[in-house]
Amino acid sequence: MNKFWRWRPSPAVRIALGLVSLTVTLVLVGEMFTGYPTDRGDLVRRYNAQLARSLGQQLATGLNAGPEGAATVQRVLADTQQREPRLLSARVLDAQGRALGQVGAHAAQWRLEPGAPSTVDNIRVPLMLNDQPWGEVQLAFVPIAPHTLAGWLQQPFLRWLAFLAGMGLLVYLLYLRRVLRHLDPNAAVPERVRAAFDTLTEGVLVLDPAGRVMLANQAFSLLHNEAPQALVGRDAASLPWLLAALPEDQRQPPPWRRAAQLKQPVLQVPLRLAGDPRIAGQRERQLVMNCAPISDEGRVRGCLASFSDVTELQERTERLHAALQEISASQSEIERKNEELTLLATRDALTGIFNRRSLMQQAELRFAEARAAGTPISCIMCDIDHFKSVNDRYGHAGGDRVIQGAAKALLRGLRLNDFVGRYGGEEFCVVLPGGTLEQAREVAERLREDVEANLGSALREHADVRVTMSFGVAEIAPDLADPSALIDLADQALYHAKKTGRNRVIAWTSRNAETAGAA
Ligand code: GH3
Ligand code: MG
Ligand code: MG
Repeated sequence: MNKFWRWRPSPAVRIALGLVSLTVTLVLVGEMFTGYPTDRGDLVRRYNAQLARSLGQQLATGLNAGPEGAATVQRVLADTQQREPRLLSARVLDAQGRALGQVGAHAAQWRLEPGAPSTVDNIRVPLMLNDQPWGEVQLAFVPIAPHTLAGWLQQPFLRWLAFLAGMGLLVYLLYLRRVLRHLDPNAAVPERVRAAFDTLTEGVLVLDPAGRVMLANQAFSLLHNEAPQALVGRDAASLPWLLAALPEDQRQPPPWRRAAQLKQPVLQVPLRLAGDPRIAGQRERQLVMNCAPISDEGRVRGCLASFSDVTELQERTERLHAALQEISASQSEIERKNEELTLLATRDALTGIFNRRSLMQQAELRFAEARAAGTPISCIMCDIDHFKSVNDRYGHAGGDRVIQGAAKALLRGLRLNDFVGRYGGEEFCVVLPGGTLEQAREVAERLREDVEANLGSALREHADVRVTMSFGVAEIAPDLADPSALIDLADQALYHAKKTGRNRVIAWTSRNAETAGAA
């Protein structure tokens, strides 16, 4: 459709146009009844007739004067035309219709038929000579009613009407624009619509395209304790508290303007509303603002802004966050404690190596693995020689240090899969999964040498103390026995080592045990 036909003027323009047409109609009707201001016709008619009469008299006087009458006629006509700008032309005819004198283009201006009565602008006056009709003078004046469109347009009355219409439109429009802003736009919003908005817990603003408040609901007015009616008509950007609540980079232009410019919603704008010290308990609040343009056939007619208070939600989230942090902190504390407990439960407090219980658990596991894989498993039992006298000589604390030193020495000498535990007071047990008797014997021998060379240094303050250990080594077929049997066998070998002089390694298989038992 043609764009012109889609033109829908604003209410102010429509009212102004209505007022202009009313004004023009009034002027026209007034003129009809009062004749003001256009009834100049009568004046002109009288003036023209007066002029014609006095010209006739002058000419009659001139003609009666004598033979230079013709010259006098021409002079009088010329003088009169010079004086009277409204006189377009004039001609003097004698009774036979001969022209005695003429000024102006009379043929073009004279429209009367011979004998026809005078009109306003074409006037004929009879001339008398010696009281006898002698001829006539014809006068053509500027016509009162124009004969052409251009002439009509030049009419002062039309110009006056055009001025009235043009200026009237401008002045009415300016005035209405101003007045409509102050007229109560509440009247434009039906009461039930307002009541519906007031039931919302969210603050709602309806703004016009210039950003002025058309409607503010109850919840919005409570944000800053301003009556909704007092907000109506005000520029939303002129509410200092609202502007201050916006993030600095979103104040120019404010979100509602941006939504109108972009013709799409501007969402989730965070607002921080300062607390009002005048109101008890009015603390700082967090809001989220959403602005949606109100469009009508692609034209933005305003903007709907909503404000939700998320203070409580945010506080709850923060509390939840803190609680979660606390829980995770206490959880890791529990885990740490559990680890500590596990360590305490599985480790020997003095040396940090496996205690007897977890040593046995580990041994069971390895034993089962060896049985399943059909691999050998061997064990070394060892005991510090004459430990009582270490205690006696260097005290219990000295004895402890030697026990710790022995555990360290044993750990130092182990292979990757081997493990060691404290079996009793100063007795240790090493399990070597996959180790044959011969390999275990070699390991025990290395350990024995290391202990002999170094364990004495555990008693730091006593130089050149020699502490030794005795070792009993055993290997057993895992499918035929259990860990206790293996340890028992190694213990027997250890006993043998003690008996045969200490600081030595005795390796036994089950056969040795049988032999020893038999002996
Ligand atoms: P042997 O060469 O025959 O082993 O002689 P021994 O003196 O070492 O004899 P035995 O193994 O019977 O002695 C063990 C002593 O170790 C008895 C006990 O007082 C001491 N003992 C046991 N546990 C600890 C401990 O944790 N710390 C200290 N300092 N002494 C301990
Ligand atoms: Mg001992
Ligand atoms: Mg002992």
